[in-house]
Amino acid sequence: MNDLFSNFPTADVSALPTPVVRLSNLGHDRLFMKCDNLSGETYGGNKIRKLDFLLGQALAEERRSVITYGAAGSNHALATAVCCRQRGLKAISILAPQETNGHVRKNLLMQQAVGAELILCPGFSDFPETTRQAVERCKQTDGLEPYIIPAGGTNATGALGFVNAALEMAGQIQPDVIYIPMGTGGTHAGLLVGLKLAGLNTRVEAVRVVEPEFRDRTHIQQLCDELCAKLEKGLQDQCGLLETEERKGREADEFPLLRELCDLGVEKNPRIEDSNIIIRDAFFGEGYGMSTPEAEEAVRLFKEQENVYLETTYTGKATAALLHDLRTGALDGQTVLYWNTLNSRDFSDEVAPIDFHTLPPDFHSYFSGEIV
Ligand SMILES: *Cc1c(COP(=O)(O)O)cnc(C)c1O
Repeated sequence: MNDLFSNFPTADVSALPTPVVRLSNLGHDRLFMKCDNLSGETYGGNKIRKLDFLLGQALAEERRSVITYGAAGSNHALATAVCCRQRGLKAISILAPQETNGHVRKNLLMQQAVGAELILCPGFSDFPETTRQAVERCKQTDGLEPYIIPAGGTNATGALGFVNAALEMAGQIQPDVIYIPMGTGGTHAGLLVGLKLAGLNTRVEAVRVVEPEFRDRTHIQQLCDELCAKLEKGLQDQCGLLETEERKGREADEFPLLRELCDLGVEKNPRIEDSNIIIRDAFFGEGYGMSTPEAEEAVRLFKEQENVYLETTYTGKATAALLHDLRTGALDGQTVLYWNTLNSRDFSDEVAPIDFHTLPPDFHSYFSGEIV
């Protein structure tokens, strides 16, 4: 990982850098994909980069348990459980009801396989009370408070993972534009700040997949501001160190990127302007988790033309916007990067031996009846 991050502990749960590959069958010469589907050994997707920093902090604070949140089939809750197992932390997932399907079932079974404690709440409004009870239990068993990770792993600590991701990408490709889904916004905010630090003018087209009441541009702006403040503080400490090293006679070029970032970050405070925040609303459809015909078409095309597996909650909507813009000619002559945020690691073998009856009874109804 980049020197920029030596001030922020990481749990080293990711498999980085992720590759960049060319997508040559969708009718655009310079279309590429950043394969964050492979970001972890057991489980990939965009949450792993955030968990590197979140669990790094949890371990630095010597926490033993981690609480996080999501809907029943949450990718984030599963990613957290998988990474916690890797680092010997106990994962507690506080979940809200969601209509069941094959994906939800498989994610729940995998959480069980990696030893997470699963709690189903009647609704999101029950999260605070359920959290209070879980924190009390952790204090009894661990002798200290658990580390609490917000939904989607999104706060300034988690978003550091995507600052690092932008710097990683800058060494591989320098696109004119990046397409991502926008859920809790950690991916979006982290990339914006990281691209600025990398000195790139790359535009980020963040395609809305959650309701505007849940996340909008003011949230992204606030997250970018928090992230910049955090990085600036970390950089100031490190640039102080760098000066000390230089006084001791070590060459600045032993730390080329840090030198550059000290100049950039400290002297040109990397604030993100409102005009840099692009949120595409037109591909959202009726609501979070609700498919659209455009998303379905995009999923089908990526499968048929590129053998890339996507879904309709996040990645199908992002690629629907991308395909739309390719067709209108808006991207002619541009280098385009689709950032694949969806896990593609196959964990069928780990879930195969798990009997759903071993999950808490509240979850059993998720496994009855036929599903599509
Ligand atoms: C969580 C998730 C996202 C959204 O990322 P945010 O940082 O929350 O905006 C996108 N794609 C997939 C597949 C996800 O699981």
